[in-house]
Amino acid sequence: MQSMSAPQPFSTETRAQTCFRRPRARTGWAFCLFTLCFCLRALAWGPHGEITQAALDALSPDDALLKHLGTNAPKLVHYCWMGDFRRTPFERQGEFFYADDYLLFPGMERHLDHLVPEVKRTYEPYFRRALQALRTETPLNAARWIGSLLHFVEDTGSPPHSAEIRGDMHSKMENWVDAKLIHLPGYRPQLLGDTEEKALAGFLRRMDGLIAYSKERGDRCRPLVLADKRAEVEPIVLESALETSRVVADLLHTLGRLVPIHERLSQIHFHIGPVGNPRLPIKIVLLGTKYSTLQSDDSKYIFNQLPLGRYTRIAFRDGHWRVQHEVEVTETSGIGAAMYSQDHWAPNLVRNSAFEIRWLTKDAPDCWYPTKTAWEGDLIPLQVGARYTLRLNWQDKPGDGDVVLRFRQNINLGLPPVDAPFKPGTTYHVFTGSDKMKWAQILIRTTNAPTTLLKSVAITPEE
Ligand SMILES: [Zn+2]
Repeated sequence: MQSMSAPQPFSTETRAQTCFRRPRARTGWAFCLFTLCFCLRALAWGPHGEITQAALDALSPDDALLKHLGTNAPKLVHYCWMGDFRRTPFERQGEFFYADDYLLFPGMERHLDHLVPEVKRTYEPYFRRALQALRTETPLNAARWIGSLLHFVEDTGSPPHSAEIRGDMHSKMENWVDAKLIHLPGYRPQLLGDTEEKALAGFLRRMDGLIAYSKERGDRCRPLVLADKRAEVEPIVLESALETSRVVADLLHTLGRLVPIHERLSQIHFHIGPVGNPRLPIKIVLLGTKYSTLQSDDSKYIFNQLPLGRYTRIAFRDGHWRVQHEVEVTETSGIGAAMYSQDHWAPNLVRNSAFEIRWLTKDAPDCWYPTKTAWEGDLIPLQVGARYTLRLNWQDKPGDGDVVLRFRQNINLGLPPVDAPFKPGTTYHVFTGSDKMKWAQILIRTTNAPTTLLKSVAITPEE
């Protein structure tokens, strides 16, 4: 077997310090996330959930955002972790979807670092995308998009994120805080602007203020952390957590005010034929636009308030061939016909397995993340003891490169060793999920397009 260069880090962004400590383990979902992401959380600023909760508590019960999101509003406490689930499914209480569906979109094709200065590049795109979701998608989808935005806002407020402190000191500093103390009694959320543009400008100014506030505290904490003076650090980090919570409250209040009251009759909703047994919801994208959404229940998806016109709609998920249609959105668009039939179903855990869908960017297939040396597929959860077959459908004249199947015990527990790469000619490989192989990830190692090597790829569970 040929020697291989060392695998690339999981992703360059994994090096980025992430965020807040894990939330209180109240329910099953928390256990789930804890199990999957312990290490990731160990690097993370703890009180994302508490900061979000304090902000929600500061909103008046008739706040427009709370009314709009309804029963989805409390889920922000969980969705505010979204940014730390790159390439990974987000799972809680029956929900199961790839966080990247709420992290990547046209104009934001790459994951950004969660520290200043790079995190500043997230504010405007995620603000606009969250507002788009509030206006055009279901409240559930909107809550998830807001969760992504909140993640970056809250990370920014962490003193070592603002003060650009990395390494051991980063984790220590941001976790030396008593999350139980994060409450905003008497705080009245401020409107950051009453139009989208004014609100965005107000939000960006508010973030500049938050960075200055937390940077000053991070700089002050630095010598105290080195001297191991935890008791002196905690109240300082708490101030940052409280200020972050006030910013989040202002932001949520403002987003609610920007959702238009009137709904035009440009809603489209489609029934989705229930075929196969995929775990993932269908993702619907409108080519050449920023519009995307996930189906909100088993039977349909909805877009509200779309600009009228013709769209190329693509639907996809694991185990389904791409389904593409031209749709006309008119004043009276309504229910469409079922999109899927049995013909579109084939057991396969890999999304966009034939690399056909290019909604995110024309330069890369969706669901395949380019690094310097490879195209990284999604992390695919495996069942312990279940057998799977990797199937490689090579091009007739494949270019340079190979395919690697990487297994992980834990999504962020360092880099697992890489088994022998698959060269053109190897068409399948059987493997079994185990305690050490709970996640599989396909790497297509070429600096050219993945289609220079493969026509398609599949991971098929054995019945
Ligand atoms: Zn983070």
